[in-house]
This record gives sequence, structure tokens and C-alpha cells, in this order.
Amino acid sequence: YFISSEGPEGAGKTTVMNLLGVRLKDEGFDVVMTREPGGIMISEKIRNIILDNEHIMMDSRTEALLYAAARRQHLVEKVQPALDAGKVVICDRFIDSSLAYQGYARGIGVEEILAINQFAIGKTMPDKTILFDIEPKVGLARIEAHNNREKNRLDVESLDFHQKVREGYLSLVDRYPKRIQVVDASQSLQIVLEEVYNVIKRELEI
Ligand code: C5P
Ligand code: MG
Repeated sequence: YFISSEGPEGAGKTTVMNLLGVRLKDEGFDVVMTREPGGIMISEKIRNIILDNEHIMMDSRTEALLYAAARRQHLVEKVQPALDAGKVVICDRFIDSSLAYQGYARGIGVEEILAINQFAIGKTMPDKTILFDIEPKVGLARIEAHNNREKNRLDVESLDFHQKVREGYLSLVDRYPKRIQVVDASQSLQIVLEEVYNVIKRELEI
């Protein structure tokens, strides 16, 4: 069973999904936690190329292709084998990040990004995607308050860009209404975790 978490920075997806993973493991599920871009050595290296502060001039299509390349290697090496073995894979970001960030917010176009990603991943899509929805101002304020994460070149993006990312994500809900479940990420950590747990538990019991 393949679960992805999506949303902007500061929405709490990493924290909540890690807690969800622990809980599912406690219940006996065989869970693999991973993240994008990254998750395995080649893809972590690609992540560093994309997110490095020094690469501020990177062309947006180059960036989109690198995300797709990182996604393919991660899928082939880690995600697909785990799914084939019947495990529950929880992935921090997947294709929807590319559709929202590169396709929508960067303006390349969702169809174009979908095309290169279909080349990269074939038919494998998440069974369920949790979209951590939050107003960019609130998400960014949380990051400021905690100040506990790697700084990268994307931190210089404007509020306007983050607003577009949010719109992009919400437009994907219309495209994939069965797969994507929106959660109001401005609520407390406990409540968000409870909502996410209930959605996923229902899916895993079917
Ligand atoms: O998930 P995480 O916050 O670690 O993502 C790292 C950075 O990559 C974030 O700044 C995110 O906005 C950016 N990103 C992106 N396009 C993607 C995936 C991530 O701009 N397709
Ligand atoms: Mg995170």
C-alpha cells in the first residue's frame, strides 16, 4: 500500500507522517518510511544538486527533469520492491509536488510535468495521498519559529510563489478526487495526526 504526503513547507507533514508510521508499526504493519527528493543515495545526491544554494540559476525545466530522475531511481530501488513485498510505504512528497511546484507554481504546465513523470514512474501512483493544506503565511511562520531545518535555495521564494503552490495542490484535488485527501494542517498536531490516522486506517482495513 502506497501513501504519499504532500503540502508546503511548515505544514507538518514530516512530523505527522513519522508519528503515523510509528503508530502503524506498533499495530504490526510492515512500514517503510522514505522521502523525496532523496530516499536512496543517488536520489539524495540529485536532491543536493537541486536544493544547493549555489545553484540559484538552475533552469526550471532542468529542475523538473532532475526531480523526475530522482523519483525514478527512488521508485525502482526502494519504493517498488517494498510495495511488491506487500509493505506499507509512506513517502514524504511524490509526483504531486512536481505537479504543484514545477507544473503550476513555476508555470511549466501540469500536463507537461505529468508527461515527464509518467515516463519516469510508469503506472505506479500512490494509493492514497494526504494533502496538508495550510495558508502559506502560517506555514512559513512555523518554519521561522522552529528554525530547525536545512536552509536551501528555495527559501528565497516569495509568498506569492507559495500561494501558487497551494493553489496548484488544491487544483490537483479536482483531478484526483479519490486519491487525494485534504487535511486542514493549521489545526493542532494531535488533531491532524488523528485525522490522518483515521483516513489511512480505513484504507488499510479494506
Ligand atoms: O520536503 P522538503 O521540505 O524537505 O522539500 C525540500 C524543498 O524542495 C522544499 O523547499 C520544497 O518546497 C522543494 N521542492 C520543490 N519541488 C518539488 C519538491 C520539493 O520545489 N517537486
Ligand atoms: Mg518536511
